Amino acid sequence: MTAPDEKKPTAPDRREFLARCGQVALGGLFVIKCTPALADLVASDGADDIPEWAYAVDTTKCIGCGACMRACRAENNVPESQFRTWVERYEIRGDHAVRIDIASDENNATFLSNATPAAEAKDGRVKAFFVPKLCNHCETSVCVQVCPVGATFRTKDGVVLVDPEHCVGCGYCVQACPYSTRFINKETHTADKCTLCYHRITKGLLPACVQSCPVGARIFGNVKDPDSEISRVLRERRYTLLKPELGTNPRCYYIGLDMEVV
Ligand code: SF4
Ligand code: SF4
Repeated sequence: MTAPDEKKPTAPDRREFLARCGQVALGGLFVIKCTPALADLVASDGADDIPEWAYAVDTTKCIGCGACMRACRAENNVPESQFRTWVERYEIRGDHAVRIDIASDENNATFLSNATPAAEAKDGRVKAFFVPKLCNHCETSVCVQVCPVGATFRTKDGVVLVDPEHCVGCGYCVQACPYSTRFINKETHTADKCTLCYHRITKGLLPACVQSCPVGARIFGNVKDPDSEISRVLRERRYTLLKPELGTNPRCYYIGLDMEVV
């Protein structure tokens, strides 16, 4: 995700799009050509000893403090004004108008103070709440499907990753992601997004955002383990998905999500 004032790649025109489709079709030939280490990660079977990672966001708990965004930036060297995770503030008014603010600076106190309960009664505001966002690690990942060189792939434990060695920075995945979670890293010039801190979770640690959240609004774990917190939460709480009608089968579950959230 890129800050609102940042330039995004422009949409291709029809001729260019058709040409790209040809490249994508050809690209399928390259998908299977990956390094042995990479091949080990790629989804193959559902063996029971392989975890199935999932993520949940409890929107009833988030206080919009931005600790998760700061932790993510520090952990993953995310360039300034680009985001692997971010927090949106929704403001619902009495006339059903919805206003969405996106924190363009995680240290911006104005973003935070505007949604305090005391401020809600002003300006006909009925309610305000925060919604953390990140890559949904979709089971049916559009980004994986459009990558012409197979640089984007889904691991066998359910995490969608980008191999920077193979990424050519074409930006097709950035345009294809229906959740706007990807960006071209302005320093590496390759596609970037949340990895669920894969380097941490494969060592038994939590993603940095989950670790840093002071109120437990972000929950992560192995859904194959019935005793994990994520399994308990998904058993006991009602949850929904973002844009379920698209059939992307997101692996990020939202608790307490208001119907106005897009
Ligand atoms: S949210 Fe976007 S980038 Fe993440 S897996 Fe789904 S389509 Fe790909
Ligand atoms: S750290 Fe937790 S409470 Fe703070 S903004 Fe992130 S999700 Fe919300």
